[in-house]
Amino acid sequence: GAKSLGRNNYQIYAANVDAAQQQQAELKVRLRHAVRNDELRVFYQPQVDAVTEDIIGMEALVRWEHPELGMISPAFFIPLAEASGLIVPIGEWVLRTACAQAKAWEARYGLGLRIGVNLSAVQLMQQNLAAVVASALQDTGLDPRQLELEVTESISVKTVPHLVETLDALHAMGCGIAIDDFGTGAASLDYLRRLPADRIKIDQSFVRNIGVDPDDEAIVRATIDVAHRLKRGVVAEGVEIEQHLQFLRANGCDELQGYLFCRPLPVPSFEKLLAERERLVSEGQAVPA
Ligand code: C2E
Ligand code: MG
Ligand code: MG
Ligand code: MG
Repeated sequence: GAKSLGRNNYQIYAANVDAAQQQQAELKVRLRHAVRNDELRVFYQPQVDAVTEDIIGMEALVRWEHPELGMISPAFFIPLAEASGLIVPIGEWVLRTACAQAKAWEARYGLGLRIGVNLSAVQLMQQNLAAVVASALQDTGLDPRQLELEVTESISVKTVPHLVETLDALHAMGCGIAIDDFGTGAASLDYLRRLPADRIKIDQSFVRNIGVDPDDEAIVRATIDVAHRLKRGVVAEGVEIEQHLQFLRANGCDELQGYLFCRPLPVPSFEKLLAERERLVSEGQAVPA
């Protein structure tokens, strides 16, 4: 009858929940060894000048190559890493890997590309974050002005009491600061004014609706305007189609990042891109993607 069917459904549901919880628990254990077992990968996504479309920098985006499950998205495992505190060693590993890579590309291609590295709130709460960043720069020889630390807008002074002081210290060392996912958090314009941010990154949720929702278009334009009035640069994230590009360019957005130009790439593919750019430049051609 309906009752037993309901119970069976519940049992199947409960079994699935158990299986999901079981898998999460196993992944947490496994994640603990991911750095040591060399299972983490850093992919790099280009950021381009909105006018020339030439590459200016790249964002470091971590992936977890699980031996059985394949490539796992950071959207899935970063929250696990944050809950367990593992984000501290993982974040430091990403930072060091990205700085070393940017330095190697600078030596090979001479472009002085900027490298964006995401910081978690948990890392920002560590008293020694500035020392960790200084040590990564020292050991890799990367110019601090080439490093840009991305802090998501949802991080507030409530969750990270010393946020302003920490970012001031990093900024004083010469590092750039970018406010990530701008427009999605509860940050006020006063917060934008108080943080030593060089750049804001307009969240993809607004960019996606260019050509679809006039309200989102209004937010994008107003964000570019206020950022420029406060002498901040603006990057748009999630630029996927030509219409996004045209709108952002027409409204003075400085830089663009998204699938229209390039997906996040593993090192060999990124190097092909840089080599191709070098070839075009040596032939005196226009460089854009
Ligand atoms: P994020 O920092 O906002 O990074 C941008 C995300 O948008 C990346 O997702 C990127 O692959 C994706 N993306 C770029 N262009 C497009 C596009 O045109 N369309 C769409 N739909 N998506 C695009 P990804 O790599 O999955 O990373 C997700 C989030 O995970 C990041 O968002 C960041 O918050 C976090 N994350 C990634 N790597 C790290 C890390 O090393 N440390 C920390 N703390 N967080 C990280
Ligand atoms: Mg980011
Ligand atoms: Mg973002
Ligand atoms: Mg995001």
